[in-house]
Amino acid sequence: MRAARIINHKQPLEIQNFATPEPGPNDAIIRLEACGVCRSDWHAWQGDWSWIGLSPELPITPGHEIGGVVVEVGKDVKSFQREDRVTTPFHSGCGRCEYCLKGRPNLCENLRIYGLATGFDGGYAEYMVIPNADFNLIRLPENVDSLSAAALGCRYMTGYNGIVRGNVKPGDWVTIHGAGGVGLSAIQVANAVGAQVIAVDINDEKLELAKEEGAVETVNAKTENVVEAIQEITKGGTHVGIDALGIKDTVLNSVMSIRKGGRHVQVGLTTTEEAGFVSLPVDLMTASEVEFIGSLGNPHPNYHGLLSLVSSGKLNPKRLIEREVRLTDVNDVFNNMTEYQTKGFNIITDFK
Ligand SMILES: [Zn+2]
Ligand SMILES: [Zn+2]
Repeated sequence: MRAARIINHKQPLEIQNFATPEPGPNDAIIRLEACGVCRSDWHAWQGDWSWIGLSPELPITPGHEIGGVVVEVGKDVKSFQREDRVTTPFHSGCGRCEYCLKGRPNLCENLRIYGLATGFDGGYAEYMVIPNADFNLIRLPENVDSLSAAALGCRYMTGYNGIVRGNVKPGDWVTIHGAGGVGLSAIQVANAVGAQVIAVDINDEKLELAKEEGAVETVNAKTENVVEAIQEITKGGTHVGIDALGIKDTVLNSVMSIRKGGRHVQVGLTTTEEAGFVSLPVDLMTASEVEFIGSLGNPHPNYHGLLSLVSSGKLNPKRLIEREVRLTDVNDVFNNMTEYQTKGFNIITDFK
């Protein structure tokens, strides 16, 4: 089988040939039909994120946003068989730790992310191994295809969980900082549950896309004072702020523009600049009872709700796809990401 692999940081990925993997007793082998090219893969390629243990030893095959078909299962796999159409969260769970048993496998003690953990190859390949398949595979509804499945993860499912974690109610003001993949997804979901969405970005084109996805107001952080603009629009602050980017400015803009008793949801991970640390206005947050909530991925049990919204047409992850690409195009996409030129999901659909 063919796979596109990171051999050295910041150097072009190489297409290599391998023997097709054999399943262990609890594994499934998936034939990829679609795999998203994600900024997280780009971060791995840059060599970022060592501070949170997400800088795998090289070489590695990236890719954690997948849709495909089961081609083989290990002898102990009971719930899936050949021909089943599936996806999986980017975070693989062990199924037996405290968090997996509590229905929060996105916090699994043995969590591994495809292409971001050493030796744990992902979906920039014709086939990939899904360990602990009964636990980690998610069956796709009849009318949700592999392309939609790839478009769901990780950005879209992350956006969904951000809205769930923010406890967004109909009519709430929800401000999304960063109108990239996660941000636009979160806008779609917030809109679907009846919130009033404000989108913040520094790029007018992205703000236009945000409007198309249902934002009722937009703020350009380059030309406007974000905190004042949001206070003005919402008459007192947004109920929920979601930072979908993860730089100091977006964290602080969000926290400072939240209504008393509101919630900030941190979805984006920080860059080399912050290396995971941002100073917060703790006294203001305390006196205003503003909550700071982390959100990681989307726990397996939440896929039911997410896929139902897609199946019924209330959410349309495919609308955020910018283009379908070939396995051999991934370097092109990475270079576009370096230049911040991507405007939506780029998804590998041709693995030859
Ligand atoms: Zn676990
Ligand atoms: Zn991703």
